[in-house]
Amino acid sequence: MTNDKKLKLGLFDFTDCEGCQVELVGLKEKLLALSERVDIVNWRLGQAKAQWEQFDIALIEGTPLTPGEIDLLKIIREKSRLLVGLGTCATLGGIPAILDKEERQQWYNKIYGPEYEGRGVDALPLSAYVKIDFLIHGCPISGNEAARIFSDLINGKKLNYKDYSVCFECKLANLPCRLLEKKPCLGPIAQGACGAICLKGGSACYGCFGIKEGANVGALLTILNKFASEEEIENYFSMFHNKSKLYDHR
Ligand code: SF4
Ligand code: SF4
Repeated sequence: MTNDKKLKLGLFDFTDCEGCQVELVGLKEKLLALSERVDIVNWRLGQAKAQWEQFDIALIEGTPLTPGEIDLLKIIREKSRLLVGLGTCATLGGIPAILDKEERQQWYNKIYGPEYEGRGVDALPLSAYVKIDFLIHGCPISGNEAARIFSDLINGKKLNYKDYSVCFECKLANLPCRLLEKKPCLGPIAQGACGAICLKGGSACYGCFGIKEGANVGALLTILNKFASEEEIENYFSMFHNKSKLYDHR
């Protein structure tokens, strides 16, 4: 039964892989602890019956890719006191934004034949359509970082990001620096809190946690230009930031 003193939360998803919701489910006890303060009144993955009332908080995963999804996003905005983007698809456009209209049509032709007319629009960050109150970045999000932010949100605290970049976590893990080996990496400008998970797995950082406030993108580009081709640099920057403001810095 719904307790009126609890905050009403809706969790919605548009086009994406749902990996960020899986991270939330993985919070287990932490999620249960939050549920003492919050009623999840609309969550397609977690309940059979959804309520469409006013939401104190709406979390949105994914990005709208059809006109109908864009309309739904606007309705959710109208019904929500706070709207929070969950995961890089929602916050930056992310993986769905890698393909532009022309490339998408090429794939439609290849998969469905030349007669097929796609309804999809370019993947854009949610902020292209509605006002967003906070962004929880990551592809996927970090469950622990999301739990920290939810806790602050529920307790009415000012929301903030960790005050360090991915390099800090990479150095804490005592990993060798890719830049010194003349391999690209966006760690110096990327917002930290992911635990440098990609670096630990032997990959570069592509900045899925967003760009740290005040990051010196130009300085990183100066370093990258010394050993990487323009195309290679573009590939790194466009993995998650094809439609984010960062792309304008290049
Ligand atoms: S941000 Fe990544 S993990 Fe999350 S829904 Fe999008 S593609 Fe999936
Ligand atoms: S640039 Fe990349 S590899 Fe080097 S310290 Fe930063 S995150 Fe680690």
